[in-house]
Amino acid sequence: MFPSQFEYSAPDSLEEALATLGQRADESKVLAGGQSLIPLLKLRFAAPATLIDINRVPGLDAVEESDGHLRIGTLARHNQIASDTLVGERYPTIATAAPQIADPLVRNLGTLGGSLAHADPAGDWGSVMLSLNAEVVARGPSGERIIPIDDFLVDIFTTSLNEDEIVTEVRVPKPEGSYGGTYLKLERKVGDYATVGVAVHLELDGDTISRVGLGLTAVGSRNLKATSAENALAGNSCSDELFAEAGRLAAETADPVSDERGPAVYKRAVVETFVKRGLAEARDQARAR
Ligand SMILES: Cc1cc2nc3c(=O)[nH]c(=O)nc-3n(C[C@H](O)[C@H](O)[C@H](O)COP(=O)(O)OP(=O)(O)OC[C@H]3O[C@@H](n4cnc5c(N)ncnc54)[C@H](O)[C@@H]3O)c2cc1C
Repeated sequence: MFPSQFEYSAPDSLEEALATLGQRADESKVLAGGQSLIPLLKLRFAAPATLIDINRVPGLDAVEESDGHLRIGTLARHNQIASDTLVGERYPTIATAAPQIADPLVRNLGTLGGSLAHADPAGDWGSVMLSLNAEVVARGPSGERIIPIDDFLVDIFTTSLNEDEIVTEVRVPKPEGSYGGTYLKLERKVGDYATVGVAVHLELDGDTISRVGLGLTAVGSRNLKATSAENALAGNSCSDELFAEAGRLAAETADPVSDERGPAVYKRAVVETFVKRGLAEARDQARAR
């Protein structure tokens, strides 16, 4: 099916993009990689009057460390992040997740900001960013807003972004001391959305867990933070028993539905196993770092 008619705007600056968006925010859509929005337009699930293509806005795809954060521009493509040297060396949760997203074609175009703004509970980046306590930076008519990822993701395909705001950047706090992390994803075939995904970030002070983050994919109406498991882990020494308990608690947090990817009980069991496995992997990395 063809999309319904819309006006197309391709501004050269963020200011221009915001001004155009501000004119008819409730009838406009921002276009980034188009990998989710274009199919929605073609199916006519979305029919905006104006499409604001931000791909010509310079400076929105940088990946760099500054002010105690890794700062990833909203237009950074999944593939760009997967091959970024800094990410590969210092951010293992991000580095393991990026190449598991979709297929090479989608990874070449899909963006980090677009994924988060789309807020698909089966999207991988939401869980990764929850595990890392990331913040989303948004610009609107009244300036910049910094939104913790847990507040940004509200519900299925729903964020706390205002209609007249544009995501510009995602900020990840730099890890401290010894740390490790991973993203474990079960998919029916390569390139598929997750049946279940688990993001793990672990920081150790000696053998004590000083900081931990666990994000769950495709087992709720949004990406979930496994808070009770995180609380059980924080401040304690690493042990297989503790990791098993964290897996059990994370499986309780998960709220999956039975569908063509498997029954809910199976998905919970995968969460439990992935949390245990991911924590052990992150601990081994942290000890070696
Ligand atoms: C075949 C296929 C397989 C896929 N598999 C996976 C997968 O395994 N895992 C996964 O995580 N994802 C998967 N995706 C989704 C993919 O990662 C998309 O790239 C992503 O969901 C949307 O990013 P985008 O840049 O294409 O955004 P777009 O499609 O351009 O936009 C998506 C939404 O976000 C809004 N938006 C975009 N950028 C901004 C911004 N800067 N500020 C405000 N709003 C904005 C748009 O208005 C729109 O509502 C898949 C997609 C396809 C087509």
